[in-house]
Order: sequence, then C-alpha cells, then structure tokens
Amino acid sequence: MSKKIPALRIRNFNIYYENQKIIEDTCLDIPQNQITAIVGPSGCGKSTFLQSLNRMNELDGNIKTEGKIEFFGQNIYGRRVNLNRLRRQISLVYAKPNLFPMSIYDNIAYGVKLIGWNPKVELDKIIQSSLKTVHLWEELKNKLHKSALDLSYGQQKRLCIARALAVKPQVLLIDEICAGLDYISAAKIEEVIECLSSELTIVFISHNIQQVSRLSDFTALFHYNQNQVGQLLECSATKQFITHSFYPGHFDYVVNRFR
Ligand code: ADP
Repeated sequence: MSKKIPALRIRNFNIYYENQKIIEDTCLDIPQNQITAIVGPSGCGKSTFLQSLNRMNELDGNIKTEGKIEFFGQNIYGRRVNLNRLRRQISLVYAKPNLFPMSIYDNIAYGVKLIGWNPKVELDKIIQSSLKTVHLWEELKNKLHKSALDLSYGQQKRLCIARALAVKPQVLLIDEICAGLDYISAAKIEEVIECLSSELTIVFISHNIQQVSRLSDFTALFHYNQNQVGQLLECSATKQFITHSFYPGHFDYVVNRFR
C-alpha cells in the first residue's frame, strides 16, 4: 500500500435500504492516486457501497448508514458536510449512461455552471479539455450543440466520464466500467483510465478480471458473508489477488469467476 494517507478511509461501515442490511462491517482504505477495482457477485452490494463513497445513494430514498468514511481525514457523514461540494470532489459515473436531454456542450457545462465557473471562454476551455481527456474531442467538436442522447452507447459512457471530470474531482468512481460496451469502446475507456491514474484516485467496479488485472493497482473483493449480507472479504494488490486468493472460503469463487 502507498505510504501517503488514504484518499478514503472506510471503517466498520454498514448500509441499510428500508432497514434491510446490504453492506456489513466493511473496513477499507482507498489509496490516493491509485486505481482500486471492486469485484464480486451481482447483488452483493458493490454499487450501493460505491455510491456511499460520495453519498449519492441518499438520492434513492430510505437509506441508513453506520460507521465512518473519511475523505482525507474529513468524516463525509458529518452533519456539516456540504453534499454538493462532496459530490464535486468525489465524482460518480453510473453504470448506465445518464445524460441529461440537452446538448453535448450543456451536459458538460451543467455541473461547472452550478459551481459558478461561468465565463463562456472558461467554459469552452473546460469542455474542450474534458472531451480531449476522454478522446471524444475529434469525434464531437463539430456537433457540440447536438443532443447528447443521439450519441452511441460507448460515446455516452465516455461523455459521462467527461462530465464527471469537468468539475475537477479528486476521486472518480465508475460503476461497471465497460458494461454493455463493444471491445473498441471498452479499450478507449481503459486508455482514458490509464491516462487519468497519475492525477486522480479512481475506484471502479468490473466483472472482467482481465480488465481488472490490466488497469488496477488494488482489488477489493466483496461477497455475501455468513449472514448473507454483502461484505468486503479482502483487498490486496491486484498482482497478488490475481495469482492467489488469501481468503480460503472464497478461493473457489475467485478461481471460478476470475481465472
Ligand atoms: P451489486 O452492485 O453488487 O450488483 P447492488 O448494490 O446493486 O449490488 O444491490 C445490492 C442489494 O441492494 C440488492 O439486493 C438490491 O436489490 C438492493 N438495492 C439496491 N438499490 C436499492 C434501493 N434503491 N432500494 C432498495 N434496495 C436496493
């Protein structure tokens, strides 16, 4: 693990929807400027956990949490936390592209305007650099005012990443990084993540172990525990995770699903 303090420090964290426990007693450090992959079977709470890292799942309604998550030492579940600021610092890209029914330009400008970075020249620069980062500028520079919803699925996913980057986050969370994408679009997204890794802390969910091994520094394995509730079972350097699982009870899972 890195000697720097973790970007996110999660301690004894529980999550409930409508009083049903989804995540139990999870402790994890997310190292800064590293890429952490989250893997595990469907339904074990990976997305719920990811969304709790910037409190986005509170938009879904009846959620309750226990335990602590610190972002560079600040408790993000504290009473004085400014949620808009938190979600700008820790930006989330959902599994399915969720663009607004607006132009490509306005989709990216939306969050930037909310912060108050309004001058047009400034906005134009941010939009250009965000699109360049996700390798969409050449494809889209002549149709910035066309509807974002007319883009291909792969372009929409990259535009969602561009939108998340435009507000200059410190942490980027990406759910199901390449789900539903053809291999060319997936390769483009992997290239983007690799380029970003020197400047950002990245956490992504994937079901593709080859991708996890290519992209991530650390791998966090979630699974159901003995109470049939999702829990982090291990987090190790990806190279070690790939070669052998340290968690005897889940060796078969890792072997069968990921090798
Ligand atoms: P994964 O990402 O590992 O597939 P999820 O985090 O999507 O798992 O879901 C974990 C559990 O939480 C599932 O049982 C799911 O039905 C439940 N769940 C997810 N979102 C909600 C919600 N908004 N309200 C109630 N239950 C939810």
